[in-house]
Amino acid sequence: MSTFIPGTPVTGHEFPSLAKGNHVVVVGAGAFGGWTALYLQQRGCKVTLIDAWGPGHARGTSGDETRVIRTAYGSNEFYFNLAFRAIELWKEYEKLWNRKLFYTNGVLWFCYENQVPLIDDSQRLATAKGRPYEYLSTSELKKRVPVADVSGLTHAWLDRDGGYLKARESCQLVAEMLVREGGQYIQSHARPGDIRSGGMKSLHLSDGGLLYADAYVFACGAWLPKLFPEVLGHRITVTKQEVFYLSPPARDAARYEGIPAWIDADGTDYYYGIPGNMHRGFKVGLDRRGPVFDPETGDRLPSPEIFSGIRKFLARRFPSLEHAPMTESRVCAYENTSDGNFVFEPHPEAKNVILLGGGSGHGFKHGPALGDWVSQTLLH
Ligand SMILES: Cc1cc2nc3c(=O)[nH]c(=O)nc-3n(C[C@H](O)[C@H](O)[C@H](O)COP(=O)(O)OP(=O)(O)OC[C@H]3O[C@@H](n4cnc5c(N)ncnc54)[C@H](O)[C@@H]3O)c2cc1C
Repeated sequence: MSTFIPGTPVTGHEFPSLAKGNHVVVVGAGAFGGWTALYLQQRGCKVTLIDAWGPGHARGTSGDETRVIRTAYGSNEFYFNLAFRAIELWKEYEKLWNRKLFYTNGVLWFCYENQVPLIDDSQRLATAKGRPYEYLSTSELKKRVPVADVSGLTHAWLDRDGGYLKARESCQLVAEMLVREGGQYIQSHARPGDIRSGGMKSLHLSDGGLLYADAYVFACGAWLPKLFPEVLGHRITVTKQEVFYLSPPARDAARYEGIPAWIDADGTDYYYGIPGNMHRGFKVGLDRRGPVFDPETGDRLPSPEIFSGIRKFLARRFPSLEHAPMTESRVCAYENTSDGNFVFEPHPEAKNVILLGGGSGHGFKHGPALGDWVSQTLLH
């Protein structure tokens, strides 16, 4: 079953009380760690960001070209509000840094039933914000997205505030901006130090050095359960997920690039796609959870059966892509919690060790809002 709608985030943890001037090490320069590091630095901490392979690298979960940003989270106000705030922040940072990161093409939800709680319940929240989703009948959908076949659908919803984000490029930029704001970035493989008397004193770096800080945030994505097996080994399951890039026929290429990102709300597979992807092609992915996967040793080979499912889906929904050549594929890892909630909590034996992760296939978009929230919580 999909965990597309997460539960309620766990609260009530006793976080360390950081102050301006404290040295904080953030391990992991993906969407979670990078934005957290930047916000901590902006709020007056002295931040060192560390990544073993570099911000937005190919095996990190934030390392693909693009990610969808949407606000529909059923009736879950926490993630709706986080996504809504993230949309504002992505726009602000894009302007501030003068770099295109956010493609505001909107997000289309293809619906098969008259009622789809995932979107209908969010519509109440979106309306309260004055930004309701737009209802599209199948004939209106056909007019707006002529490349789509609307058979089998009852209607579609258009989330005009959503769209897609540049993923790996924004991670690289966030790390660059951290350094520009006075933070430090180190490429190194970090290993947690011993935990004694309720805290961690230092971190081991791969060159044999030790790094001392007041607090350590581990935002290690799919590596987190391996780093802290006793705390997270049974709570985060890493699965193999795949996306494919296809080349639309030349006569249709421009028409495909302009359409919104889309999600097929069939309640089981949740195929989704992003049209342009910096001209890499029409990207299609499958949200259904794949087999357990090792982010470090697993070969990133696409599965023929997943691709064959994607071909069948495209033949139905985007018929002119049925025979389009696949130009690229990516294997990526979801770090799933059982209820889809993110993990944000202190280590049970060390208050100055903060565990941040469990993106569960929907974390990227939240990066700036999450970094803001995490840094505010730690600096309360
Ligand atoms: C196929 C796919 C599609 C997705 N689609 C969407 C989407 O459309 N929208 C959305 O919002 N989200 C989406 N997600 C989810 C989103 O990408 C993730 O939730 C998010 O990127 C997680 O970021 P992270 O920082 O936790 O992990 P990562 O990006 O993996 O970052 C963790 C970093 O920690 C580093 N690290 C690990 N261990 C160590 C160590 N010991 N020392 C130093 N560094 C270390 C790694 O090198 C890595 O760079 C998708 C995920 C996948 C796989």
